[in-house]
Amino acid sequence: MTKTLAVLLALSLAVPAAATPPPLTLEQRADEALAKDENAFGFVEGLTTEVGPRQAGTEAEARAREWAAAWLRMAGFKNVAIEPFMMATWVPGDIARARVTAPFAQDLVVLPLGNSAATPAGGIEAEVVFFRTVDDLRAAPAGSLKGRIAYISHQMRPAQDGSHYGFAGPVRWVGPGLAASKGAVGVVIKSVGTDHHRNPHTGGTSFPEGVAAIPAGALSLPDAENLERMFARAMGRPVMLKLEMNPRQIGQTESGNVVGEIAGRNPSLPPVLLACHIDSWWNAPGAFDDGAGCGIIIAAALNAGQHQPLRTIRVLLAGAEETGLWGSKAYSTAHINEPIAVGLESDFGADRIWRFDSNFRESNPALHKRIAAAVARFGVSAGTDVATGGADLNIVRDQKGALVDLQQDGTRYFDLHHTPDDTLDKIDIVQLRQNVAVWTQVVGILANEDTAILTGTPVPAAPAIMQK
Ligand SMILES: [Zn+2]
Repeated sequence: MTKTLAVLLALSLAVPAAATPPPLTLEQRADEALAKDENAFGFVEGLTTEVGPRQAGTEAEARAREWAAAWLRMAGFKNVAIEPFMMATWVPGDIARARVTAPFAQDLVVLPLGNSAATPAGGIEAEVVFFRTVDDLRAAPAGSLKGRIAYISHQMRPAQDGSHYGFAGPVRWVGPGLAASKGAVGVVIKSVGTDHHRNPHTGGTSFPEGVAAIPAGALSLPDAENLERMFARAMGRPVMLKLEMNPRQIGQTESGNVVGEIAGRNPSLPPVLLACHIDSWWNAPGAFDDGAGCGIIIAAALNAGQHQPLRTIRVLLAGAEETGLWGSKAYSTAHINEPIAVGLESDFGADRIWRFDSNFRESNPALHKRIAAAVARFGVSAGTDVATGGADLNIVRDQKGALVDLQQDGTRYFDLHHTPDDTLDKIDIVQLRQNVAVWTQVVGILANEDTAILTGTPVPAAPAIMQK
C-alpha cells in the first residue's frame, strides 16, 4: 500500500458515516419528477432514434419490442417479458399517387388508410362524388356510387379535450365502408387532422361484413381543400381522379405485448396496471403517439416504485394498437383471470394533464377526493366524467374494474397524429415532466392503497412475513 493511500484510508475511517437522508415522500418524488425527470424523455428519444416507425405486425415493431424490453430490464423492472400473439397484418406498400385529371389537372398528396385495398397496377380513374359529411354519404342512394370515387370531407377543429376526433373520426372509421357498400370503386377522405402541412393523416378503417375492401386514401388537408375548390369551380364538369396505391394484407404475422413489473410488498393484492402502446403507423416516428405515453408510464412506475409499494405496479406496452387493438385484446384473453386493481393509460401525446377522472367517484369517494387533492398543485382539476380507460385497457373493462383517466391537453395532438410530423422535437419537456409528476403522484397513491380501489372495501392483508 502506498503511503498516500494509507493516509487516505485512515482519514476515511476517521470520518463518521454520513447519516442516510430520509427517503423522499411520494410528494417529493412527484415534485422531483416535475423539476427534472429524464426517464420519460430518455425512453421516447431512444425509441424514436434507435427504432423509429414501427408498423404493427412487422419486423420494425419486433425491433421496438426488443428495444423496449431491454430498456425496462436496464431500468430495473422485474418479470420483463414479451408476450407474443398472432394478428392479421396489413402493410401500406410503396405506391400512393392521386392526380386530378380534369378539369384542373394536378397531383394531390395521398396515403392509404389501414385496411385499404390496392388499385389495379396503373391505378383507377373515375369521377369523384363530393360528400360534405359522413351523414351526406349515408343518405346517398344504394348503388349511386357505382364506378365512382367518393370524397368525404369534415370540419374538424382543435380542442383541448380532443373531442372533435369523435366528431370527424367517422369519416375515416366508417366512410370508406359506406362508400364501398354503395358501389364506389375508391374513396379519398380529407385527413382527420387539424394541421395544414402537406402530410396525409393515415389511420385505420374497416369494411363491414360482406363488403369487399376498396382502395381508400387520406388526402393532406391542403390538398383536400384544393380539391373542394375545384368542385366549386368545375361548373358542372366532372372532377376526375386517378388513384394508384398498392397496400396489401399479408396474412397472420407475429406481434407482441411487452410487460414489466415493480414488485409490491403484498403480491396477493391485485396490481396497478399502466398501459401505452409500442406500435406506430409506418409513416410516423410515433413520438407523441405513443412513445411519449410509454415514457410517461415507465417513468411514473419507477418513481412510484422507489420505495417498494404495497401493490405491484405492472406496465403494459401493448403491440398493434393502431391496426385494431390486437395487443389489448390478446392481453385480456391471456390474463382475464388475474384481477387488476386499477388501470390507467397514457396515449394522447405529451402535453400537460389538466383533468382527473375515475370510475369510482361514487363507489369510493374518499380515494377519488384524495387523488384530486394530491394533483391539484400540478394544475389538474377533478372531473365528473366517468373514466372509461384507453384502448389498451380492455382487460380492466372486461373485468369491470377500476379506471383512472388523466386527461391531457389535446389542442395540438391532431396536428401530428399519424403523420411524419410526429417527431421527437414536438415534445415539450416541461409538459412531459408535468405528466410524469401527476402520474407518479396518482400511481403512488393507488399502489399503496390497502382497500379495493373500485369499492373502498377492505382487502386481505399479506401474510406477516411479506410485510416489511
Ligand atoms: Zn396511440
